[in-house]
Amino acid sequence: DGMNAQDLGKILHREPAEIVKKLFMLGVMVNQNQSLDKDTIEILAADYGIGAEEKIEENISDIDTLYDQEMENTEHLENRPPVVTIMGHVDHGKTTLLDHLRHSHITAGEAGGITQAIGAYQVRHSDNVITFLDTPGHAAFTEMRARGANVTDITILVVAADDGVMPQTIEAINHAKAAGTPIIVAVNKVDKPDANPAHVTEQLAEYGLIPEDWGGDTIFVNISAKFGENIDELLDMIVLQSEMMELKANPDQAAVGSVIEARLDQGKGSVATLLVQQGTMHVGDPIVVGHTFGRVRTMTNERGRDLKKATPSTPVEITGLNEVPEAGDHFVVFPDEKSARAAGEARAKEAQMEERRKTNHVTLDNLFDSLKEGEMKSVDIVIKADVQGSVEALANSLQKIDVEGVKVNIIHTGVGAINESDVALAAASNAIIIGFNVRPTPQAKAQAESEKVDMRLHQVIYNAIDEVESAMKGMLEPTY
Ligand code: GDP
Repeated sequence: DGMNAQDLGKILHREPAEIVKKLFMLGVMVNQNQSLDKDTIEILAADYGIGAEEKIEENISDIDTLYDQEMENTEHLENRPPVVTIMGHVDHGKTTLLDHLRHSHITAGEAGGITQAIGAYQVRHSDNVITFLDTPGHAAFTEMRARGANVTDITILVVAADDGVMPQTIEAINHAKAAGTPIIVAVNKVDKPDANPAHVTEQLAEYGLIPEDWGGDTIFVNISAKFGENIDELLDMIVLQSEMMELKANPDQAAVGSVIEARLDQGKGSVATLLVQQGTMHVGDPIVVGHTFGRVRTMTNERGRDLKKATPSTPVEITGLNEVPEAGDHFVVFPDEKSARAAGEARAKEAQMEERRKTNHVTLDNLFDSLKEGEMKSVDIVIKADVQGSVEALANSLQKIDVEGVKVNIIHTGVGAINESDVALAAASNAIIIGFNVRPTPQAKAQAESEKVDMRLHQVIYNAIDEVESAMKGMLEPTY
């Protein structure tokens, strides 16, 4: 069917020469441009491992597939710095902490360099490097996750010791849990006279965050972000946590990663902050980013310093893309500009890919089919209600549902209107939202419609439970 070693190289993200060599080892002598027969392609696909065949059949333009494939690479693994996100309730000190870290803990050579807000930065702590994502808050975090970018390794939960656990603290905990990232608790503002860190610890125990000296496994650090107290200890704990996680990547391959943020600059054109997650990126690399492509023209760090190469976990600001990508898009460096352009252009034509991904969300109407196909092991639900009593009643009853071993998993609950954070969490986690005696905010309603998140509103608890159970059994009456 006309496919040659060059085509296969693009699809498998390997040099054509490597494909030719591999074919030679398999006893097939061809040059890069010679068409291969179906059997040869199959043997080659088998040799590259499970999934390669599907990749060949799919499309060379599927950046997400290439990204997934490269992220799974287990060759030449080396330690990489952790990527950390700071979350917590408003005014608890996230920005103060990020600013403090940004201005301290830099290397001597970089002192005096003006930091620019590029969406992420790195700090040095003794021999270690830590990457911080600079947009505090769980909304940005979960929006990126909804777009398929799971870039955060560790979440720092900032809780003000004079204020304690607040609604967004709980949201942040559930967002971090849904993403599967470990949480380090930074109890902040301990300098304040009315600070009560022990009370924060007690409150967090209810959410499963229990310090080691209470028999749990969550790291707690008391800090004052404003006065820079105990920040070194917090950094020590981040390093410790990351060592336990054995974070690794292969620096010896073409770079892949995710977009942290992007904008159009009057003079420079498209400017994007990329986080390298695997491989090493170089100036001049041909690259496909989301729906756009180009060549890495300039590459700078958060201090405006030019970099020639960027290794795993390094955030860099690049120019040279044709258009402005979106936060959460994946990028893949290609061996040559021609294939990057081909993939980029094909990808641009498939902007509806996005729509397809959105319609993939689970709804009560398609739930039964998803369960039947065995794709889902549990039904994830977000509950919002007018009072805590209703939240608990609903959660308890829903958790008792058991349809042939499939159970309901409550990923977040809260009192009050359904907000954008709830929708983002549901979108990223493929969950259904149930509102009891509450409505969505207008923004949340619009977001749920565009993200195609299923949101069910009820006034009678029994009806809410019955609806979920019927949907799981495939007995839901169609709604017209
Ligand atoms: P964010 O909304 O979580 O980003 O909170 P901010 O970082 O903007 O902090 C809110 C307020 O708390 C600001 O006035 C900070 O100066 C203050 N603040 C932050 N950290 C501390 C701290 O450790 N001690 C004291 N006393 N105030 C703090």
